[in-house]
Amino acid sequence: MIIRKAEIECVAALKSQYPTTGYPEVAFAGRSNVGKSSLINTLVNRKSLARTSSKPGKTRTINFYNINDNLYLVDLPGYGYAKVSKEEKKKWGSMIEGYLNSRDELKLVILLVDIRHEPTQDDKLMLEWMRQTGKKVVVVATKSDKLSNNQIAKQVPVIKKALKLTQDETFILFSSETRRGKEELWEVIKSTCGI
Ligand code: GDP
Repeated sequence: MIIRKAEIECVAALKSQYPTTGYPEVAFAGRSNVGKSSLINTLVNRKSLARTSSKPGKTRTINFYNINDNLYLVDLPGYGYAKVSKEEKKKWGSMIEGYLNSRDELKLVILLVDIRHEPTQDDKLMLEWMRQTGKKVVVVATKSDKLSNNQIAKQVPVIKKALKLTQDETFILFSSETRRGKEELWEVIKSTCGI
């Protein structure tokens, strides 16, 4: 994928702030620290387009990155902070669900999980929300450089089983360090978004 343009175009807290161009959208979600910013930066060959997720207590937003004026990579707020109040969790939930359920432009939803860990209850809930959209779902296992091939071979079925991955759902091994999985992910994005 040749990246001519990669810019943050929109930081939205409200639906009324989402972009109106109609470009197809690919949304990324995952626990905080899973490597979401690194993955987005790796995809678009930039060092710091996406920033590490904000700290608990700060307002979370949905960030839209304009890629080549024909696609948005959509960065959903990270989850899984231990110290987040119930009220904040609720706000976060309605923001993400609101986006996922109402967005025609959304073509592909991507759940990031750390290859080293079993998916959490939050990951499973997120995946359920993603499935309910009826859009194509991809699960990306991040930080694959941190495990040996043997360890990866053991961990992949554990993750797939915990998430009850189906035939229609694509699973990709990824590393921002080695760029493993980058082209594979772009192929899925391009074919799903028709770009
Ligand atoms: P985010 O909170 O999900 O946006 O996570 P970040 O992208 O900020 O990454 C969290 C931490 O994991 C940082 O210290 C990154 O350098 C590290 N990290 C992210 N991706 C990888 C990866 O593929 N391999 C390795 N070894 N470290 C990674």
